[in-house]
Amino acid sequence: MAVDLHVHSSASDGTDAPEVVVARADAAGLRAIALTDHDTVSGVAEARDAATGLAVELIPGVELSVDHAGVKIHLLAYFIEPTPGPLQDRLAMLRDGRASRNPMIIKRLNQLGYAITMDDVLRHAGGDAVGRPHIADALVEAGYFAARSAAFVDLLGDGGAAYVERERLAASEAIRLATESGGVTSIAHPLTINADAADLRPIFEELRDGGLGGIEVHYSEHPPAIRAQLAIVASDLGLAATGGSDYHGSGKPDLQIGSGHGDLVVPDSALEELVARRP
Ligand code: AMP
Ligand code: ZN
Ligand code: FE
Ligand code: FE
Repeated sequence: MAVDLHVHSSASDGTDAPEVVVARADAAGLRAIALTDHDTVSGVAEARDAATGLAVELIPGVELSVDHAGVKIHLLAYFIEPTPGPLQDRLAMLRDGRASRNPMIIKRLNQLGYAITMDDVLRHAGGDAVGRPHIADALVEAGYFAARSAAFVDLLGDGGAAYVERERLAASEAIRLATESGGVTSIAHPLTINADAADLRPIFEELRDGGLGGIEVHYSEHPPAIRAQLAIVASDLGLAATGGSDYHGSGKPDLQIGSGHGDLVVPDSALEELVARRP
């Protein structure tokens, strides 16, 4: 059996409703999935209801964009329940940060000649964590681009013409808040971290000493050789080897829940290692 510990729904920037995500995971024969929407756990209740009576187990989670001494890292936090709590309460502030950033991005786009409005963006958002992917959807709908990814390349990606920074938690604080909320953390897609490869291991080590639980070893976009290297690093550092597809529905075409681009298998042990680290 296999699991998928990195899945997005329309509660953030996936295109499938939480219940649809769960149905797909069950159909794919997965033992468990973690719903890890950006900055929100608002999809968890619907997903859990949908999983009731099915073979697939729903693990509540969230994905955060954090900062570690100027290095941008995505952090997955697992076992974060949709109840008040130290991390949960902070998520609301992060979503407020999005709400002030999105109009700034749209203003820049308008200045650059792209005629879209906040209403156009909100039509593509199904939840409370609205962001660049929904802005990209509006640009696609208006005919400026063929796909989300093209809008990121030209405009919305880091350093793009319409890029605007947003508030991030420090990695150490996010790990502390997640732990205080009963959660276990893992660094998402470590290869996308904008640091030299040689700096990654020291970063993992520092954050592990601050309570980090794992790193995402089995990831759709990691080539097999990288997955093998990361598995060794995780084992060396005593970190859980987690994994997931980063499924976003049609937001990331050609990417399937559970199997990624076809070659992804996240073993049950990924979840067992996280469970063993629960505070
Ligand atoms: P935001 O939450 O507004 O900061 O947007 C970040 C999200 O945009 C990421 O987590 C991805 O889901 C998505 N994203 C980032 N880069 C790309 C890209 N090149 N193509 C498509 N989606 C992207
Ligand atoms: Zn996303
Ligand atoms: Fe991410
Ligand atoms: Fe993700």
